[in-house]
Amino acid sequence: MVENFDWSNLPFGYQKTDYNVRCYFRDGKWGEIEVSTSETVEMHIAATALHYGQEIFEGLKAFRGKDGKIRVFRLEDNARRIRQSAEGIKMEPVPYELFKKMVLEVVKLNERFVPPYGSGASLYIRPLEIGMTARVGVKPADEFLFLILVSPVGPYFKGGFKNTDICIMREYDRVAPRGTGRWKVGGNYAASMAAGERAHELGYSAVLYLDPREKKYLDECGPANFFAVKNGVYITPASDSILPSVTNDSLQQLARDMGMTVEQRHITIDELEQCQEAAACGTAAVASPIGNIDDLDTGKRYVISKDGKPGPVVTALYNKLRAIQYGEEEDTHNWCTIVE
Ligand SMILES: *Cc1c(COP(=O)(O)O)cnc(C)c1O
Repeated sequence: MVENFDWSNLPFGYQKTDYNVRCYFRDGKWGEIEVSTSETVEMHIAATALHYGQEIFEGLKAFRGKDGKIRVFRLEDNARRIRQSAEGIKMEPVPYELFKKMVLEVVKLNERFVPPYGSGASLYIRPLEIGMTARVGVKPADEFLFLILVSPVGPYFKGGFKNTDICIMREYDRVAPRGTGRWKVGGNYAASMAAGERAHELGYSAVLYLDPREKKYLDECGPANFFAVKNGVYITPASDSILPSVTNDSLQQLARDMGMTVEQRHITIDELEQCQEAAACGTAAVASPIGNIDDLDTGKRYVISKDGKPGPVVTALYNKLRAIQYGEEEDTHNWCTIVE
């Protein structure tokens, strides 16, 4: 392991590691996997990724477990999702076997950057695919680069697991009703930056977006899905403008395992009044509990957490998922791939 690394205080940010892995799609086929020590990409100044946003990505993590083994969480699901994203914006889908091989290889190559068990840190794995063909007219590329970089990241909750406030803002949508929200496209993030910065300036951790068609239902929390607990039921939005979060799917399964009912359906803004708990969920945080939700346009505050502390269901789900990721509890759903 790398010496002199303050694993517990690492930010969620980029840290240089030893290697990244790359594979090019050219002449109608994927080439050999290349191992690189370079932190840059050579590309044509007219590449479609640069001009027309042909860029998709993924985010998953590897954890050093209690038994010393390294586990990658739900890599098949991320592999499937990046293929769906590719099809969504006319890029070449990366075959599952290639995705898996490259993920395992990049983790092994950077093994010394996988944080020690007990630090609360993990190795973030960031696959991305970009369109490389030079075009000036709008047309999909026919050459692509699929690359995976990794970066050790610290525990998301440095000062302990605690609530943050979020806000509802109608001035901006991040995606369109039949647009790219269901795919992990870089452009969705570009579209969310103005609202996100505004929310941060006002002291909120995220924007809770409404459905872009009617602005009646809850969609998701910027780069994370949203779920709430209403009278013991796990509720989460059904929408074709949100990204199907692997974390949300996992938490739903764990909620069912705990005997809870799970409902994936439209959730109106008013329904927040009847929720006892809520959280934003995604790979970075697992679940980030929500204290208050302020509707900036109506001035109404939805007080989710009455005592200011994370609720019992969100806390239990968070702990359970982390325990599976760190090999402390049995992986009954076969979510982890052990890096041999
Ligand atoms: C990546 C992402 C999420 C979280 O997905 P996970 O698979 O749980 O990490 C949620 N919403 C958006 C918009 C995302 O891009």
